[in-house]
Amino acid sequence: MEKIIDEKQQGNALVMEPKTGNGKKLMIESYGCQMNFSDSEIVASILSKEGFDTTQNLEEADLVLINTCSIRDKAEQTVRKRLEKYNAVKKINPGMKVGVLGCMAERLKAQFLEEEKIVDLVVGPDAYKDLPNLINEVEEGRNAVNVILSKDETYGDISPVRLQSNGVSAFVSITRGCDNMCTFCVVPFTRGRERSRDPQSIMEEVNELAQKGFKEITLLGQNVDSYLWYGGGLKKDFKNASEMQKATATNFAALLRMVAEAHPKMRVRFSTSNPQDMTLDVIEAMAKYPNICKYIHLPVQSGSDRILKAMNRLHTREEYFELIDNIRKLMPDCAISQDMITGFPTETEEDHQDTLSLMEYVKYDFGFMFAYSERPGTMAARKLEDDVPEEVKKRRLTEIVNLQQQHSHFRTRQFVGKTVEVLIEKESKKSDAHWSGRTTQNTVAVFPKEQYKIGDFVNVKINDCTSATLIGEAVGYSENN
Ligand code: SAM
Repeated sequence: MEKIIDEKQQGNALVMEPKTGNGKKLMIESYGCQMNFSDSEIVASILSKEGFDTTQNLEEADLVLINTCSIRDKAEQTVRKRLEKYNAVKKINPGMKVGVLGCMAERLKAQFLEEEKIVDLVVGPDAYKDLPNLINEVEEGRNAVNVILSKDETYGDISPVRLQSNGVSAFVSITRGCDNMCTFCVVPFTRGRERSRDPQSIMEEVNELAQKGFKEITLLGQNVDSYLWYGGGLKKDFKNASEMQKATATNFAALLRMVAEAHPKMRVRFSTSNPQDMTLDVIEAMAKYPNICKYIHLPVQSGSDRILKAMNRLHTREEYFELIDNIRKLMPDCAISQDMITGFPTETEEDHQDTLSLMEYVKYDFGFMFAYSERPGTMAARKLEDDVPEEVKKRRLTEIVNLQQQHSHFRTRQFVGKTVEVLIEKESKKSDAHWSGRTTQNTVAVFPKEQYKIGDFVNVKINDCTSATLIGEAVGYSENN
């Protein structure tokens, strides 16, 4: 099971409301994490000011942008296949320009122009404001590259255009980059050092979403718990800040409280939490405000102390258990999910058993599990041989996926017979007579539509479940409505 975000969305060309612009059509496709989908909304906003309209039809596009992911080799291969498809279309429509955005652009830089002859434009995650200039360059017949990583770019001043929106849930970026240097991970190299966005601009975006009728926001960052605003600048430079800046700084718990208090009827989610940075005050804020959803995505990657150390995860198995215990103590109904990597270099059968026993302890509600993929330039690639055979990685992956499925089913069964609040998001994939939404725990629930509509908060009595879905019937609007 390889999943970071709704797989159905992967690679979808995202569109905004049409308007009359310069007549030029932009197609933007996104792959990878939620952050990339959120970035594409910033890109669409920048280019809509230049007069571009979006399209889902490759054949009619003047500019095709592909927002890419480098997290595993497979993600990069998917993008390369898409570029082949663009190549075929470019033969019919030679005027069409192709640009690569995001992590692969940053990782491969100008090499892209040499390797993939059809690429005209290569733009890293911190250079999107330069897109209008870069597009001009391309229109004048030159290739254009900007992969400069920034110390302070957060796009806080750009109001994202909501792409493919259901009008109910939206992402709001709060940090960019990552300082963790997990040895397997390419993110610090492709997204740069960690910096936080001004809370005032975050609040403005959230207020605007509330005004437009959005019912749920997800605060996004590679490591949201590390959020720290002290007037701008890199997180690593906080130690050099003035006493005044230190005294008036805003941390993640304070930001969460601010958002939750400003809009008590709006659901607030966040992702991703790194265990080493999740503090008690965040858990306390979650427990205090009913509108902060009771769900934490808390990747652990391995249950073995030796492997955690080799991954530079900066916490032990015991410390992780303490965190889990604290979450359960303050919020017994809180759902927790994991990311796991199998077959990290040197992983033994015993390490793998430690992962399985950690999973038994937590009994996660969901999980996103991956076989280790060596990424060029990372510390693991430089120092450790990728020595776990592919078939062993796969077998271990199957074992943890199967165990996760049992745990997910154990968790969903706890809801049967209960009545839970569901925010309706869309029609069920399986039946046009049913709505699909999520509980505060992020579990999907489906139920007959009746008189309800998308965006309603509904109390749903759960009668049955699979390992991934609650099945029930509405019993009325919730008081949040
Ligand atoms: N920032 C988050 C964290 O620190 O946990 C998540 C970052 S990443 C976009 C999402 C997941 O991809 C990771 O949690 C990890 O499980 C997986 N991942 C990252 N690098 C990987 C690699 N080299 N091979 C396999 N999976 C990887």
